[in-house]
Amino acid sequence: MIKEIPIRFFNTETRKKEIFKTLVPNEVKIYTCGPTVYDFAHIGNFRTYVFEDILRRTLKYFGYTVQQVMNITDIDDKTIRGSMASNQTIFEHTQPYKNAFFIDLKTLGIEQAEYYPQATDYIPQMIDFIKKLLDRGVAYRSSDKSIYFSISKMPNYGRLSHLKLSELKVGAGDARVAFDEYEKDHAADFVLWKFYDEEKDGQVYWESPFGRGRPGWHLECSTMATEILGETLDIHVGAVDNIFPHHENEIAQSEAMSGKTFVHTWLHSEHLLVNHKKMSKSLGNFYTLRDLQKQGYHGSEIRYMLMQTHYRTQMNFTFDGLNGARTSLHRLIDFMHRMQEHAGEGETTSDCRQNLRKAEHHFNQALADDLNISLALASLFDLTREINIAYDRGVLTPADANAVVELFKMFNLVLNIFDFKTDEGPSTELIILMKKRKQARKEKNFKEADRLRDEIYANGYEIEDTPNGSRLKKM
Ligand code: AMP
Ligand code: ZN
Repeated sequence: MIKEIPIRFFNTETRKKEIFKTLVPNEVKIYTCGPTVYDFAHIGNFRTYVFEDILRRTLKYFGYTVQQVMNITDIDDKTIRGSMASNQTIFEHTQPYKNAFFIDLKTLGIEQAEYYPQATDYIPQMIDFIKKLLDRGVAYRSSDKSIYFSISKMPNYGRLSHLKLSELKVGAGDARVAFDEYEKDHAADFVLWKFYDEEKDGQVYWESPFGRGRPGWHLECSTMATEILGETLDIHVGAVDNIFPHHENEIAQSEAMSGKTFVHTWLHSEHLLVNHKKMSKSLGNFYTLRDLQKQGYHGSEIRYMLMQTHYRTQMNFTFDGLNGARTSLHRLIDFMHRMQEHAGEGETTSDCRQNLRKAEHHFNQALADDLNISLALASLFDLTREINIAYDRGVLTPADANAVVELFKMFNLVLNIFDFKTDEGPSTELIILMKKRKQARKEKNFKEADRLRDEIYANGYEIEDTPNGSRLKKM
């Protein structure tokens, strides 16, 4: 479905909300920086991936075809360190974390991207990329035998992060950085091909025309992005810590190589914090998804918590917040079940039709406005309130309830918080049992009514008697 409303995104590069345009009409090419698979991802990482999922689903909801790449960083300082410490090959070390990552994506209801390239599958292409940069005179071999990108050759360097080269501190010692992790406010020539160092790299190396070694992290993303999606992307995404130097360096290499604009729209999500500090492995203040699942939280509850704050607002993780998200989500799910039970054939009322139109309009407007998910969710709660009032007054027709369910199914294309397959509400059999129970009670056959209640109970539902009649509620 093509929605008539233009989408606006806040572009990190221009620092403005812009009307979103694609290179090819109705087709979006997105590159999303993926996990470094040296350990389990934490829920801070997943805040970014859930945001990217909302982005992807919204674009599809608005009628775009999406081509999304999420890379797997399986070679960098951290994966090498991990493999050496555990006495494993780099592949043995990273495989379990890759597997876990894909399981976690499923748990969180994140839709599969079209491509998940891993860096180790693109080494020949990375070598070609470096050759071209050397030919263009923007890369050089240094005295440590590694190949570096010369940022002074790019007058535009700093344009994404709004840093001026002349104002940046230059990397400690000399102006070169051979590591994948380094201080964020230091501008420096960055490594494209890191020359082999037996002590640090162990058995991890590839042969190349520049000698034995391995690629730098920034180059990995530029190569996989351009190889799969082409020289110009519509959208590139990451969290704010990726802006500098990672994304700045991606721009420098990619544009030096192609002479074209690398990315039209840059989107960056804010961090998930703990006690107002970034959740990170290095601070040790993190929870993995598995930690929360062990405490009984369901994937959809964690998804709901991670998505409910606008992506450009920092979010502080607390268990109170997670419990609040759980309560809000279950309020919506209970409402859905009530509507599913009441749903049927017949006429809709004009009041209900008007409420549905209003909710849909607000939902679409909110998403089109730089993915304002908090407002989009508010439109669901407003609708829930209005419909509950009509239901309690007995003026909501079964056809109205059906129309509400249909609208929620559409919202769910973006939100993916209701499981219409396994969480479809009570089955027809259960609804028939409840009707039989009602009949038994009417006939004062309480023994039979109790037996039916027990049967319903055994199927995971309890009966709630309301002024409007009885309804089934999931236990
Ligand atoms: P990494 O595996 O460290 O490369 O990180 C994967 C992604 O998660 C990157 O896009 C990071 O910017 C993002 N990220 C890391 N920590 C956080 C956090 N606390 N909140 C949100 N996103 C994060
Ligand atoms: Zn990247």
